[in-house]
Amino acid sequence: MKALIIGSGMGGMCTAIALQRFGIDTEVFEAIKEIKPVGAALSLWPNGVKCLNFLGLKEQIRALGGTMRSMAYNDFQHGKALTQFSLDPLVATTGERPYPVARAELQAMLIDNYGREKVQFGKRLVAVEQNENGVTASFEDGSKAHGDLLIACDGTHSIVRRYVLGYTAERRYAGYVNWNGLVTIDESIAPAQQWTTFVGEGKRVSVMPVAGNRFYFFFDVPLPLGLAEDRSTLRNDLKRYFSGWAEPVQRLIDQLNPDTTNRVEIHDIEPFAQLVKGRVALLGDAAHSTTPDIGQGGCAAMEDAVVLANELQINSLGIEDALLRYQHKRADRVKDLVLKARKRCDVTHGKEKAVTEQWYEELKSETGEHIINGMCHTIQGGPLS
Ligand SMILES: Cc1cc2nc3c(=O)[nH]c(=O)nc-3n(C[C@H](O)[C@H](O)[C@H](O)COP(=O)(O)OP(=O)(O)OC[C@H]3O[C@@H](n4cnc5c(N)ncnc54)[C@H](O)[C@@H]3O)c2cc1C
Repeated sequence: MKALIIGSGMGGMCTAIALQRFGIDTEVFEAIKEIKPVGAALSLWPNGVKCLNFLGLKEQIRALGGTMRSMAYNDFQHGKALTQFSLDPLVATTGERPYPVARAELQAMLIDNYGREKVQFGKRLVAVEQNENGVTASFEDGSKAHGDLLIACDGTHSIVRRYVLGYTAERRYAGYVNWNGLVTIDESIAPAQQWTTFVGEGKRVSVMPVAGNRFYFFFDVPLPLGLAEDRSTLRNDLKRYFSGWAEPVQRLIDQLNPDTTNRVEIHDIEPFAQLVKGRVALLGDAAHSTTPDIGQGGCAAMEDAVVLANELQINSLGIEDALLRYQHKRADRVKDLVLKARKRCDVTHGKEKAVTEQWYEELKSETGEHIINGMCHTIQGGPLS
């Protein structure tokens, strides 16, 4: 059996590694010539980490991950903790640690584990065809590839999604802009082993540790779509949006490097139930695009990869049947994650001011139990819990 995998992001590479481990032939096609991940870092929660463990990458992911022992929400003006608690109960319940990791390092690790020489860069898929014998992928450079199935891991702007659904699923602007990057850890900004978030005015500023003595940081501000802002205005923009915020936030803005800080207008896509068409399956952001508000988009892609590979490995009624079983196992889970993230997004970013104000109030009496229970519930819904 040969699988054509489109896209070498974390969804594509986890799928390729999983199938390779089961002895299934794979070919990976990536549109761009050199991988440049969007975003500086991301948090991998135990459901995602367990998928990487399952792929034999336990030690590698541990080496890339920051040590995150506690979590705190701070008041935006004074920087004082509204709540601060240990993440040990989350680790004890789920059986694994969360690992914030630099994206470029995660991507390189996955590609190297699969075999960098086997990824065909500069191959942009433009069309898919299938019949009862297999699938043909056509690329922009005029070349074609044939396989028994095709797994589309071509991200949020997926072109295969339209082929599978028969319509264009529009991306929905979530109402806020996110800036993210990496800085050297500075404990006058936040404790080195803590995920610290400053909240107020429907905005947030967050830092979490990744390996190499670095903080992954991000800023969120509710804003209209399409503002004329870029790197040249970045520091001034942040200074203006966070005027009056606590000293650690000002220090972070002073220390970040505008040249390596990303600005992203956050979108998601209304969940849909159809993830496959015959011998073609959508996976990762192609199948479910979420806001990053519960840090689960990449983790869900890893879950997809493990489930899809298992279905192909353990079932014997043919490829189309195995893909339908993948769809059956994943559609509700990924819908749940997208909608949960959207809900969290609205509360965090002041969609209804009164609801957000109430959340700030609730944080003052939060012991950690409520937040950790919510996170564990999300994490434990994964296939390897
Ligand atoms: C600001 C932000 C923060 C986030 N934080 C987190 C987090 O903390 N935790 C988490 O789990 N997730 C997080 N996410 C989500 C996560 O980044 C995505 O869910 C994840 O990258 C999806 O992986 P993917 O492989 O499906 O898609 P991608 O990573 O987008 O990869 C798709 C690949 O396909 C290639 N491609 C596209 N079109 C074609 C084509 N036609 N032919 C060939 N190749 C093609 C692209 O070049 C790309 O390499 C965050 C997202 C954002 C925006």
